[in-house]
Amino acid sequence: MNVQLTNMQTRDVEALLHPYTNAAAHRQVGAHVIETGKGVYVYDEHGREYLEGMAGLWCAGLGFGDKELADAVAEQVHKLPYYHLFAGRSHEPAIELAEKIKELAPGMARVIFQSSGSEANDTQVKLAWYYNNALGRPEKKKIISRKKGYHGVTIASASMTGLPYNHIDWDLPLDRFISTGTPHHWREALDGETEQEFSARLAHELEELIEREGPETVAAFIAEPVMGAGGVIVPPAGYFEAIRPVLEKYDVLMISDEVINGFCRTGEWFGADTYNVNPTSMSLAKQLTGGYAPLSAVALCREQAEVIEQHTGKIGTLGHGFTYGGHPVGCAAGVAAIRIYQERKILDHVRKVAPKFQGHLQRLKDHPLVGEARGVGLIGALELSPDKSGKKTFDPAGKLGAKLMGELVARGVILRAMGDSLGFCPPMIITEEEIDALFAPMEECLDATL
Ligand code: PLP
Repeated sequence: MNVQLTNMQTRDVEALLHPYTNAAAHRQVGAHVIETGKGVYVYDEHGREYLEGMAGLWCAGLGFGDKELADAVAEQVHKLPYYHLFAGRSHEPAIELAEKIKELAPGMARVIFQSSGSEANDTQVKLAWYYNNALGRPEKKKIISRKKGYHGVTIASASMTGLPYNHIDWDLPLDRFISTGTPHHWREALDGETEQEFSARLAHELEELIEREGPETVAAFIAEPVMGAGGVIVPPAGYFEAIRPVLEKYDVLMISDEVINGFCRTGEWFGADTYNVNPTSMSLAKQLTGGYAPLSAVALCREQAEVIEQHTGKIGTLGHGFTYGGHPVGCAAGVAAIRIYQERKILDHVRKVAPKFQGHLQRLKDHPLVGEARGVGLIGALELSPDKSGKKTFDPAGKLGAKLMGELVARGVILRAMGDSLGFCPPMIITEEEIDALFAPMEECLDATL
């Protein structure tokens, strides 16, 4: 296809290498250049309006152009645009945000900040190692993650990510990183296996894996309560309840990757609350600031935090931290975002509109091109499949999803295809009318593809 690129698109292809983009194909079709945003909508360089059904990259929970949030960011830039938390320095936005996180995330006692979800998960790995060294268990270092889990792209977090593109030709995963099964009942359950039975089998497989590797070598298990980039996979009934005792038995840390789930998305403050995860630590990012400034955090339970704290006394310092970790502008955005979630009762709103959102997904489950519809709160997916069995896929996987994404953009909706799973994760401020407007074009596109 020979498309006439705009001036902006020409500048883009000459200057940028895009993440998660086929650069060769991109050169032919050009970038979709977004210029502004308001509410649940964004506007491109031609002034065309799009309903942003993915809140950008699962992060703009309060939508675009929120004046209160933007003002909080601007105010902090004027007051103290940069400071750090190294060598005992501090600033109020970091203190206040850490206090808020502790208040909202029960069981979490200390917070350490970074800038991105990947950095948070890298920090989790390092803190799990440091903790076990502090306890005199130098062998206890392996990290277990799940196939199709997404934890980021730094070397450690990409090693934990269970998706092929994050490993192929990147020489990953590193040693010490091992994986276990995806908790996707529709795709992975045996014939006739109930969700509870499937969960029990996965917990049993996890236990076998830990036994095989040697419990004295396994440090941590990391999981997103609802898997995001792997295709919005909601855990089967009883999953975390079955996994948790296995981890406790072998003294393995439970890291809840809340980078997408956190801050009201699942209809609770955290995915861990929705699914009884009972984590020893949490990774937070994205909706932590509503995407208005980059910031991430690791929240640690008291036991892990205290062991680490004491160990720094022995070594002389905590030899870890990023120049921009706990950036005051990011922290001010986080404080403002949480204040807005609370004052505007975003959690209540998510619970109120979720039935409409989930109802649309379930209605589309009957479409001949849809194999499964799944979700919780204001996150969900439709998985395209030739039938409802969970055994078949379209060939080649992802082609139909990509085609539908293009057609939806032409109809003014931005979503994300993850292979044959079409993800929905709109700004949480979305109204019931806007939810209808999000789903109507999807139905048209599916019908047109039949
Ligand atoms: N963890 C989860 C669950 C994510 O979805 C993501 C990004 O989408 C990350 C970690 C990595 O975050 P970042 O892209 O900010 O490094």
